[in-house]
Amino acid sequence: MPDDAKTMPRASRRGLMQASGLSALGVALGGAGAPGYPAPSRMDTGGVEGGRVTFPNWRGQAEPEPPPPPAPLPPGERVGYAIVGLGRLSLEEILPAFGACRQSRPVALVSGSPEKAAVVARQYGIPDSSVLGYDNFEDLRQLREVRAVYIVLPNGMHREYTERAAAIGKHVLCEKPMANTPEEAQAMVEACARAGVKLMVAYRCQYEPHSRAAIRLVRFGELGKLRFIHATNVQSNGPGPQWRYAKALAGGGALPDIGLYCLNATRYLTGEEPVEVSAQMQSPAGDPRFAEVEESMDFRLRFPSGIVAQCVTSYGAFQDKTLRLLFENGLAEIPDAFAYRGQRLFVSRKAGEIIERQERVIARKNQFATEIDHFSERLRAGEAPHTPGEEGLQDQRLMAALYRAATEGRPVEVPSPERRTRGPEPAEG
Ligand code: NAD
Repeated sequence: MPDDAKTMPRASRRGLMQASGLSALGVALGGAGAPGYPAPSRMDTGGVEGGRVTFPNWRGQAEPEPPPPPAPLPPGERVGYAIVGLGRLSLEEILPAFGACRQSRPVALVSGSPEKAAVVARQYGIPDSSVLGYDNFEDLRQLREVRAVYIVLPNGMHREYTERAAAIGKHVLCEKPMANTPEEAQAMVEACARAGVKLMVAYRCQYEPHSRAAIRLVRFGELGKLRFIHATNVQSNGPGPQWRYAKALAGGGALPDIGLYCLNATRYLTGEEPVEVSAQMQSPAGDPRFAEVEESMDFRLRFPSGIVAQCVTSYGAFQDKTLRLLFENGLAEIPDAFAYRGQRLFVSRKAGEIIERQERVIARKNQFATEIDHFSERLRAGEAPHTPGEEGLQDQRLMAALYRAATEGRPVEVPSPERRTRGPEPAEG
């Protein structure tokens, strides 16, 4: 209630509460209606169950029941994150996504640009004392409200900042690709294990509802056996200089940046690990952007059950982020599978004497918020995240094998990881 409302006459206070919808909340919690009106029903007021507000289903049987209202944790109980690196992804997607988080909040920033950091800190209510530079990163140790760091720096810097975070006892959420090489990824896994902190790779698609529905289509066999996967992640990139064209910072070109989404999807969709990979790379001759890293790669993965995945990634073609799953008895397509938003799932199958192509309408969620809250939930429960460092390490091994296959011009066999690379499944719904 606004401060001045405390001193208002009763009648005008009631008017204010009605206008702001507060009377309904008061009824829900207090159980009584506002004086002077017909008493509300339980259907109207809802109630409190297990510490959260719930409402009975007010929709007809023809429609699905709406989900309950969100139950965010009080800000002080959420997992506090330091965002490391204030580039496009941090400013355009990650920081705004905290607004949709229920268990997480940004509490500190690490940046090499004091001017930019000051603006962002003001926008997100972060005090100046919690804005650090790369040199005094270790001062995060003293900030008790920082439980985890979210590393959103160029790929070649992920290892250093993961190790520095682990050394000061902070959990690590690291952007993809995890690192530049399998050796770096292995070192990151070991550093976090030694320090007793958790490490998660930010594979947002593994938490995205349309991709999760596709995983269920494969697991439950609704369309028969999965036989082939076609995954494309291409876009048209602009001129340099930018770190994505420098091998020391990017590790490679289109493959680790966007082809990784295709690679990772083939593994979480099949639930298998590829046994053989083959690949071809190409870059336009004389283009200075591709002096160190590849422009395009098309690659093929063979899985133990016989599933074959065919993937294309490029910085040189108009954007397309489509995933197609070819089953024995049907086809599933997600046209924007790897995009930040806008996913749709279409299923084609026989229906009587015709072929039916139907859309499965699935509620969309902010992928970044879902992924960040997943890590927070697992930190609060003391459990392993669904996409821990081992999941990123396996992709690094496979990317190294893909580069070898492309360079040597022959298929390369890949050993399976000794242990399952993913942690327990994320909560659905
Ligand atoms: P960006 O270029 O927009 O931001 C990079 C940030 O790092 C900038 O603030 C830059 O100032 C800082 N930086 C510090 N040292 C640097 C150096 N030596 N060279 C260049 N920049 C330096 O990049 P981005 O798109 O925000 O990507 C950051 C990370 O996030 C990468 O690992 C990238 O792969 C990943 N990413 C993930 C997604 C996703 O959907 N999960 C999308 C985009 C990027």
